[in-house]
Amino acid sequence: MLDKRKFYINGAWVDPIVANDLEVLNPATEKPVAVISMGTAADIDRAVAAAKKAFVTYSQTSVEERLALLEKLLAVYKRRYDEMVDTITMELGAPKTMTREQQADVGVGHLQGFIDALKRLKSRDRLPNGDVILREPIGVCGLITPWNWPINQIALKVVPALATGSTCVLKPSEFTPLNAMLYAEMIDEAGFPAGVFNLVNGDGINAGAALSKHRDIDMMSFTGSTRAGIAVSKDAAETVKRVTLELGGKSPNIVFADADLEDRVTGSVLECFNNSGQSCDAPTRMLVERSVYDQVVEIAKRVGREAKVGDPTQEGSHIGPLVSHVQFGRVQALIEAGIAEGARLLVGGAGKPEGFETGYFVKPTIFVDVNNDMRIAREEVFGPVLAIIPFDTEEEAIAVANDTNYGLAAYVQTGDPKRAERVAARLRAGMVHINGGPHRYGSPFGGYKQSGNGREGGIFGLEDFLEVKTVHVPDAA
Ligand code: NDP
Repeated sequence: MLDKRKFYINGAWVDPIVANDLEVLNPATEKPVAVISMGTAADIDRAVAAAKKAFVTYSQTSVEERLALLEKLLAVYKRRYDEMVDTITMELGAPKTMTREQQADVGVGHLQGFIDALKRLKSRDRLPNGDVILREPIGVCGLITPWNWPINQIALKVVPALATGSTCVLKPSEFTPLNAMLYAEMIDEAGFPAGVFNLVNGDGINAGAALSKHRDIDMMSFTGSTRAGIAVSKDAAETVKRVTLELGGKSPNIVFADADLEDRVTGSVLECFNNSGQSCDAPTRMLVERSVYDQVVEIAKRVGREAKVGDPTQEGSHIGPLVSHVQFGRVQALIEAGIAEGARLLVGGAGKPEGFETGYFVKPTIFVDVNNDMRIAREEVFGPVLAIIPFDTEEEAIAVANDTNYGLAAYVQTGDPKRAERVAARLRAGMVHINGGPHRYGSPFGGYKQSGNGREGGIFGLEDFLEVKTVHVPDAA
């Protein structure tokens, strides 16, 4: 078992102030793979003090200096890529092939996206009225990240902080702390100055809340549940910090009769199941035009039945377990709620798949004849569970799509480009994917309504970490 009890503070690996061990489990075997420490407010104080001190000089570095550090980090990340793949597979249970192609790849893609954006960023500008505008680093940033796309969230927060000249303290999820610790090693190897990046492990209630409440933290960037995002916002309010939030989703996927049904329904079901359904932007509500409903249900049934769960250490396109026993329980409860509320179970259901009694594996599950008021249509399941809902008109589809507290992503499948544009304009979501259009590095990621505030990635992601200063110069003579 790996001993990972230390925190990374002020450029060194240090012991926690008070020992408090936690075992990290492999979700596929339920066996411990590492022991970490759970930090307290005192550890957070220490890390924040280091970040505050480092900000004095790091905030004065030039864009060229920071670009050189980021390029080095990129080179280290690429060299140690396989370690990242193995780590995420071990602690999250994401299958090896998927981890290599997606989970670990985002660490390269986002970093490159931010490097490109930093080269384009105008940190000094002049308004038509003559005033000078400076964009300056916001200060010391508290970063709290979840377990579902762990290095994705870390890169989307740590990199813009470091790119813009801010310093930071990261508290990753204690379910997946090991990739974060590996990233800390990479940052160290890249040569960032001591105190610029700090890492303290711990839980949300203690270490997380200590960050949000800390008077020397200028900004909180959080990704996770809407519940925890609200807690972070309330904790941060007393000290009037900037808070950016990337929260949950219940993303609609409108399938019109004129779409390439075979291709788009197959792709949509697989996307819903990807990462065992543990993605905030997963297309979990499929709204289907009634004239092709039976045809779509048949395609979904076939794809759902063919979807396999499997050992994450094996190569292949199967899905792995959920991250934890708690998540397993939540997903089971929602599958049971779907049955109790009268949705028709097409594929899967409650319980573990045959042959997977050990590990937090669940059956890929599809419900049809779902009504948008049911819990499986309103709540984020965060498991491989798809809800299919029929509709009759474009107007109705838009209304049902927008009838949610969330507004992260939306998906439209249609053979009519004019309709795609028209519908996309009316969907209350931060991102609209048309006919499988993928998310691209450098584009903003984030949501409307209770899916959060702010945008991550590329130039928009940098701007969230910048303050704006107006310099009023005297009138020209
Ligand atoms: P949480 O939102 O509780 O956890 C995400 C991160 O926030 C963790 O680091 C967590 O620490 C921390 N956290 C929790 N409470 C607080 C707090 N009061 N102050 C500061 N930090 C806090 O998600 P869960 O792991 O409990 O998952 C529950 C549900 O949340 C999922 O089923 C899914 O629906 C949604 N979710 C959405 C994500 C997204 O990408 N938008 C990511 C993860 C979950 P700790 O682990 O100790 O609680």
